[in-house]
Amino acid sequence: MKKVCPVCHKVFETSGNYQLYCSVRCRKIHHKEVYYDRTRPIPQYVVGDKVLREFRCNKCHKLVLVTSEKDRRRKFCSPHCEKLYWKHPRKPKIEEKQEVV
Ligand SMILES: [Zn+2]
Ligand SMILES: [Zn+2]
Repeated sequence: MKKVCPVCHKVFETSGNYQLYCSVRCRKIHHKEVYYDRTRPIPQYVVGDKVLREFRCNKCHKLVLVTSEKDRRRKFCSPHCEKLYWKHPRKPKIEEKQEVV
């Protein structure tokens, strides 16, 4: 049967129903878009919730209250802060001073 790849829109032939993408490459691209680019919801503390642990975000120093067992945060309040923390800014190049004559 013929199918259209949702990534590259190429028509490809497949024998099974399970195959959605023309190639492993396209499957990976699609999964990356779906799972990694989606902003993960951050659990918010609601007054009255039992606090399992609390810590301060290494990046923004916000107090984070963890109320869910599934909440794996230990150092950062959000994936955004974690990303910023690990991303070491490149040192700006020291511009050579041009002497004005
Ligand atoms: Zn494809
Ligand atoms: Zn933070």
